[in-house]
Amino acid sequence: LSSDYPVEVDLPAPTELKPSYDVVIIGGGGHGLAIAYYLAKYHGITNVAVLEKSYLGSGNTARNTAVIRSNYLTSEGVRFYTESVRLFKELSNEFDFNIMYSERGQLTLAHTDATVRAFRQRAEVNKHFGGRTEMIDRQQIRELVPSLNLDPGHLPVLAGLWHIDGATARHDAVAWGYAKQAAKRGVEIHQLTEAQDFVLDGDRVSAIKTNRGTVRCGCVVQAIAGHSSLLLNKLGIRAPIHSYPLQAMVTQPFKPFLDPLVSSSALHCYVQQTSRGEVVFGGGSDPYPLYNTRSTLELKESLLAHAIEMFPFLAQAKLMRQWAGITDMTPDYSPIMGLSPLDNYYLDAGWGTWGFKATPICGKTMAELVASGGQVPELIQPFALERFSRFEQVNEMGATAASH
Ligand code: FAD
Repeated sequence: LSSDYPVEVDLPAPTELKPSYDVVIIGGGGHGLAIAYYLAKYHGITNVAVLEKSYLGSGNTARNTAVIRSNYLTSEGVRFYTESVRLFKELSNEFDFNIMYSERGQLTLAHTDATVRAFRQRAEVNKHFGGRTEMIDRQQIRELVPSLNLDPGHLPVLAGLWHIDGATARHDAVAWGYAKQAAKRGVEIHQLTEAQDFVLDGDRVSAIKTNRGTVRCGCVVQAIAGHSSLLLNKLGIRAPIHSYPLQAMVTQPFKPFLDPLVSSSALHCYVQQTSRGEVVFGGGSDPYPLYNTRSTLELKESLLAHAIEMFPFLAQAKLMRQWAGITDMTPDYSPIMGLSPLDNYYLDAGWGTWGFKATPICGKTMAELVASGGQVPELIQPFALERFSRFEQVNEMGATAASH
């Protein structure tokens, strides 16, 4: 725990795995814990185990840059993420636990006429489906972010997409809040417990083999972010996922100078200042697939060159940390949620670089799916695995904060 966040997350002491559970959730990140919480709280299903191979929230939940927004490109995406933002706003009250939700607005910069046109469309789609997004001009950008350089060498800023709902939240606190509330209702959370293989009975998974023994299950939800293909391979399920490292970095703290989140896909960079004053930089995924969370000098140099074009005075800043997570990228930059080819195995996968902001709505809708025994909620029907064979992709590539 970081020293400036005085919180105790009192979870029950570890127990032995029971021989059998109604629901086994693989993955103790924000998503797996959220599904467990909504199952227990809204559907009364508590004979549930969450299996986490490491410690809670140690995966991409701990590594993301905490951006929450709903200014996506497609109607399916905007409706889904708008509902997630709405749930995020209520989470601190729902948990009675401060997730440090901070609404600061997100500004995306347009450097070309083509981007200005695309942003107009995004603003209209957003407004239509309940988001708060509008186009703003250079003068308005200057007033919002006085320290931003509007004329980076080869790419002057022409306009911006201003998304008032853009926000951040303390990512660990989201996982802790869900964990605490799920455990309070009887969900068992087993850390250091890795799902390693499956026992199949026809088209069903009857048991999961772990490093702590085999557990039988009524049904299974897979929520393992950057490792989805590894378990899908064991089950013979094919999904169009390629796993790439995604890196981020943070500076020493400064006095507050930047309230909104600022991003530019032309400069492959987004910048934000945390409540502690540190400046966080994020960018595109590494250019080759890899299961490794090392940091590279190449990314540091290329990302910071662009960040300094946006905020020249940051050339003097000292970096404190650089890190990476593994992101499961799909061809259309949308998640895979819902049914799998197996009867009782549900998918929460393909979360690439965009899944933190979806934690509450994904948890809620996946819990509805499990509780109903396989009825896919309308909001997540467009994100089915089958969309790739039906040629019905939900293309969100143009809505990334920094192109990948
Ligand atoms: P995780 O938190 O990764 O949880 C999955 C868990 O499964 C892990 O704890 C892992 O240990 C466990 N696990 C894996 N295999 C097994 C197994 N076999 N058995 C048991 N447990 C297993 N998204 C945003 O919305 N906004 C952002 O600003 C943003 N920035 C990002 C920046 C970076 C650098 C990275 C890496 C990602 C970013 N993302 C962002 C993406 C976001 O972090 C993820 O999509 C999201 O955290 C996924 O949540 P999760 O709970 O599914 O995954």
